[in-house]
Amino acid sequence: MIDSHIHVVPPNLPGVGPLDPLLEGPRDVLAAALRRQMQAAQMEQALAMGRFGTDPADPLGVAATLEIAKEVPGLHAVGVADPTRTDGEHFQRVGEEITGKPVRALKVYLGYLHFGPNHPNYLPYYELAARHRLPVIFHTGDTFSPLAKLRFANPLLVDDVAVDFPQVSFVLAHFGNPWLREAAEVVYKNVNVWADLSGLVVGDAPLFHDEARRDLLADTVRRVAEAFRYAERPNRFLYGSDCPLVPMKEYRDLIRSFVPQVHHQQVFEDNARGLFRI
Ligand SMILES: [Zn+2]
Repeated sequence: MIDSHIHVVPPNLPGVGPLDPLLEGPRDVLAAALRRQMQAAQMEQALAMGRFGTDPADPLGVAATLEIAKEVPGLHAVGVADPTRTDGEHFQRVGEEITGKPVRALKVYLGYLHFGPNHPNYLPYYELAARHRLPVIFHTGDTFSPLAKLRFANPLLVDDVAVDFPQVSFVLAHFGNPWLREAAEVVYKNVNVWADLSGLVVGDAPLFHDEARRDLLADTVRRVAEAFRYAERPNRFLYGSDCPLVPMKEYRDLIRSFVPQVHHQQVFEDNARGLFRI
């Protein structure tokens, strides 16, 4: 199976902490923990989001992820698009990173950064994505930061760029939750839009078995299952966890509980394999 959405480095976004102390600790401890979790959840591959706005020598924020990947078989790096950079030199470097390193996709942090998906500063990234057949993953939906502005993270806004860049595959991370209807409509309407099912609930392992949270969990599952059906495109959904915000195994079981069995092979493996070419 493939987990299309995890974090192995702090995302370094305004108002967002390290996500988990492990991500700031020694690399070998983190790598060992990751290998254990992936094995327990039977995830052979995982895509890890990069770090926003680091040094010019690492324009997509993938350097640390690629180091960790040396110790975690099946771990892949996703670069982060920085909309505050507009100079040609930056994009020259980004192009070199994409061609010279195994970067599997670009991540755009809608909401956390106050730029909509159709902001002119993002367009050069989509052009690069088209040229190099690189999917672009958008954070959509609720955010983990009091400094984020939600309107930028509405999945409906992705429809604009899906139309304008038909040759690029776009992914709505978190299926736009709680704007599941909007996200489902954008997937239904645009053949080049995908959705990942990561981070629909967050919390540690006991939360997934907590009686007091059962109704809340059931509400979320019902809404997500309904939106999944509405989209009528099981070949456009990707399993993802958002680990370390959730434990891999418990989260996998939750998603498995509502994705129809007949689509498991697609959602948990084949769709990601095709989209990210792994
Ligand atoms: Zn995430």
